Amino acid sequence: MTLSIPFDNSYARLPPAFFSTQPPSPVTAPRLIAFNADLARLMGIEPGEVGEMAQVFAGNRLPEGATPISQLYSGHQFGQYNPQLGDGRAVLLGETVGIDGVRRDIQLKGSGRTAYSRGGDGRAWLGPVLREYVVSEAMHALGVPTTRALAAVETGEPVYREGAMPGAVLTRVAASHLRVGTFQIFAARGDTNNLKRLTDYAIARHYPDADGPMGLLAAVRDAQARLIARWMCVGFIHGVMNTDNSSISGETIDYGPCAFLDIYDPAAVFSSIDRTGRYAYSNQPDIAVWNLAQLATALIQQYDDREAMVEEATGIVHAMPDLIRQHWLAGFGAKIGLSDARTEDVALIGDLLMRMTGNQADFTNTFRALGNGSARDQFTDPAAFDAWEANWQDRLTTESDPQAVMRAANPAFIPRNHRIEQMIAAAVEGDYAPFKRLNAVLSRPYEEQPDAADLARPPMPDEVVAATFCGT
Ligand code: AMP
Ligand code: MG
Repeated sequence: MTLSIPFDNSYARLPPAFFSTQPPSPVTAPRLIAFNADLARLMGIEPGEVGEMAQVFAGNRLPEGATPISQLYSGHQFGQYNPQLGDGRAVLLGETVGIDGVRRDIQLKGSGRTAYSRGGDGRAWLGPVLREYVVSEAMHALGVPTTRALAAVETGEPVYREGAMPGAVLTRVAASHLRVGTFQIFAARGDTNNLKRLTDYAIARHYPDADGPMGLLAAVRDAQARLIARWMCVGFIHGVMNTDNSSISGETIDYGPCAFLDIYDPAAVFSSIDRTGRYAYSNQPDIAVWNLAQLATALIQQYDDREAMVEEATGIVHAMPDLIRQHWLAGFGAKIGLSDARTEDVALIGDLLMRMTGNQADFTNTFRALGNGSARDQFTDPAAFDAWEANWQDRLTTESDPQAVMRAANPAFIPRNHRIEQMIAAAVEGDYAPFKRLNAVLSRPYEEQPDAADLARPPMPDEVVAATFCGT
């Protein structure tokens, strides 16, 4: 068997200003540690021998049809504009159009230095590669739009971070790697031609029904609003919602210091570099709006009469908070068993969340337990739940099958932070069993899996992950 990837590359046909040609840098001793056969099938990829796939997904051998490039972009990092970022450790091999008709990027992440590496080594260590593999695939199974993981390899080379760590490369798959920051760089440079070119490309690739730059802005708004509400519903904290990590397709991208809520705390922040809590759990909707405003600012630069466009763009951006609220209400409504949540239900949901905050209630397990009558056990003061439950039961009387609604909305399993850390620690010692088990269990997060009860358990006090790191 020979690995065969039916490349059909469109980004590499854009003007040279969009990227730099960049073959991946070879590594000493690549070893395949994961290959996502289901995703490969969807993408029309024929798997090859393990040794061959290790060579290709480590970047040692270019598969036929690949046009390796690193993409240029800029972006706001923690609110500060950085005029040039770009793929500092990633190479886009190309795209395939899958058996579902969807075009997807295939990108090696951790494949060596590029024109945009600045001071970085262009590499990744095993920890963040496995973290992104597990968490992105779990997000997909949870029903959250996301980039995915096609493969992971160990490079056989050390990467120097706090000490020498095993190097690794992730093969990331995305609807595209277009970011808000991709638009920002051309806008900031006053390069109107390429800004228009990019706008046309994004519309053709993601939103063919969108009418011009403002149509694109509205389409991105809708996709991002849906995405952020999904994050809130599963207790996901992205951790670094910079505009270069904000995808035009509306997928979750860049699993750096991300984390999931254990006990419900709206102010939760895990990222060690997020000192002001800019990207705290409950700030994510506001930040998504802020990021869309940066996209609006960039898109406007292609109009001759910019002043006139400001009003239209402002209207599009200002509609976003309400859209997020609507998706949030539908999502959290379902989490308490409501198939048709209405504005009046916001108070009921908010009351539960408030009671959870004061009671050390585990976010995932409390909602899951609503369906089986054991939710009060999640509260340090169960009476706090009882007071809410009476109102809830009243509201449920008009619902035909709230249990089914809740089962489909409340996962039993999420990639808990402590399990991710434990999985990484084991893999560094050469034990991949926890990695494989996490992937298997998290591929069916809404199903009861009695054998995996340990993976549904919140962390013991000594297991709690206090901070996450970018992992660069
Ligand atoms: P991130 O915070 O992962 O979104 O990365 C921000 C920027 O830093 C991007 O331009 C990355 O490509 C770049 N970067 C991150 N890690 C490395 C690295 N190890 N070597 C070179 N560039 C990097
Ligand atoms: Mg990034």
